[in-house]
Amino acid sequence: MSGTVLRRTGCDDGPMSQPEPLVCSAKGCRADAAWALLWNNPKLHTPDRRKVWLACDEHRTSLGDFLTARQFLRDVVPVEDAPEPS
Ligand SMILES: [Zn+2]
Repeated sequence: MSGTVLRRTGCDDGPMSQPEPLVCSAKGCRADAAWALLWNNPKLHTPDRRKVWLACDEHRTSLGDFLTARQFLRDVVPVEDAPEPS
């Protein structure tokens, strides 16, 4: 027994954790995400809350249309500009 306790850090959404591969949110799609769709459902979320879906080039339109049809879509930004989900 050395008495040494290894503590894992960054295991609870810490900013120092490894960057995760950003994958498209579309069902069954494993492509790298290129876009972040920022949306808000006013029935569920406060007005400044932003949910984030990631999308590849191919699914940016279909996911965007889905959100637009529900009037949830707020913004579409390059994935590197996406805010951290909170
Ligand atoms: Zn996709």
